[in-house]
Amino acid sequence: VGQGIDVHRFSAVPDRPLILGGVRIAESGGLDGHSDADAVAHALADAVLGAAGLGDLGDHFPDDDARWANANSIELLRSVVGDAARAGWRPVNGDCTVVLEAPKLAPHRQAMAKCLADALGAPVNVKATRPEALGALGRGEGVLCLAIVLLEPV
Ligand SMILES: [Zn+2]
Repeated sequence: VGQGIDVHRFSAVPDRPLILGGVRIAESGGLDGHSDADAVAHALADAVLGAAGLGDLGDHFPDDDARWANANSIELLRSVVGDAARAGWRPVNGDCTVVLEAPKLAPHRQAMAKCLADALGAPVNVKATRPEALGALGRGEGVLCLAIVLLEPV
């Protein structure tokens, strides 16, 4: 079993799209990051790497490497699932909790879960919770995601 956590802050760059769990969320501006800043895909990918004992996302996709600029993070997730498969592991399920003040994720949770499950090759559950006005997340300055993944030997 592995866990992942990722945090991105909202970007001041106009027109930067918000992508969470591979889904474009039009109700809000985007997050800062080298890739598409998909905190949910990143947390889930880190959980896969953690469960397989393969280090972390930064080892595999360094953020000073131009190849990963604006990368589609669902493709990064697919890539680490492939790495885990080569190491003899297959995902059983994943679970994600997204902590953010806004926008509301409820209208997008099913689409996010479907997109993530397609990349993981196993069911993924997506939950969202509000930070209850506490700290930078409560001021709506960013998004945090926690994820956990169970792998089984192939
Ligand atoms: Zn990230």
